[in-house]
Amino acid sequence: MNPLCPICSAPINETDRVFECSNRHFPTQPGDCKFLIFKDNLKALGKPKLTPKELAKLVISEPIPLKLKSIKNGGKAFECLGELEPRGNAFGIKLVFAQREPKPVVVPDMPEKNTADEAPEDFETFDMED
Ligand SMILES: [Zn+2]
Repeated sequence: MNPLCPICSAPINETDRVFECSNRHFPTQPGDCKFLIFKDNLKALGKPKLTPKELAKLVISEPIPLKLKSIKNGGKAFECLGELEPRGNAFGIKLVFAQREPKPVVVPDMPEKNTADEAPEDFETFDMED
């Protein structure tokens, strides 16, 4: 089953580069539907091209799981969800991070000056990683 346009419910066409509403022309005409999404819009984050299966979920407002690589942090891999998001003349994928359990912030007590020797050995190596 072909996914339907989230704006006007017309069938969505697939090309090499994009998914776009069939109610769109080139060049665009007045009254054309605006639905268009580039398949490689998360390329910078290491995401392979958007698949028809993924699109089918996005157009019904269902988030898709994504495995991406951070642009910063030396390309560190991370996972999140993607949702359809209007961006100017096209659509993109908004990254949505699942609500994490609030992590208790552990602040080690600063040792009193005269009890510094009693500070735990691993005080310096306290794990600050996220
Ligand atoms: Zn449309």
